[in-house]
Amino acid sequence: MTATSVGALAGLLRPGDPEWRDRALCRAAKDPDLFFPGTGGGPNGEAVRNARAWCNRCSVWAACLDDAMHQEGSRGPGYRYGIRGGLTAKERADEYKRRKRTAQASSATGGGR
Ligand code: SF4
Repeated sequence: MTATSVGALAGLLRPGDPEWRDRALCRAAKDPDLFFPGTGGGPNGEAVRNARAWCNRCSVWAACLDDAMHQEGSRGPGYRYGIRGGLTAKERADEYKRRKRTAQASSATGGGR
């Protein structure tokens, strides 16, 4: 396990966390480094595909992704680590921007009232 994965998992496995974390499939992974595949193979590389395969079977992926959006905020891809909610760091940065644009458009048109 790398220092990065230890730090990120510490963020995922805090006592008193919301109950969805108890059902996080990645907690059953024997090697947590699986979720920190690096960038060498690109978004479709084998290491990323292996991590996504876990996330794709995880019942709490939406909560996990929402949590990542909240925790990581507007950080760029270089400041996000690992696979969360089935998305790479770059994909989560793009997803954050997409959600922000959607919220702004909704606000501008009076949506959500
Ligand atoms: S979606 Fe992936 S990273 Fe998130 S809790 Fe599930 S297995 Fe873990």
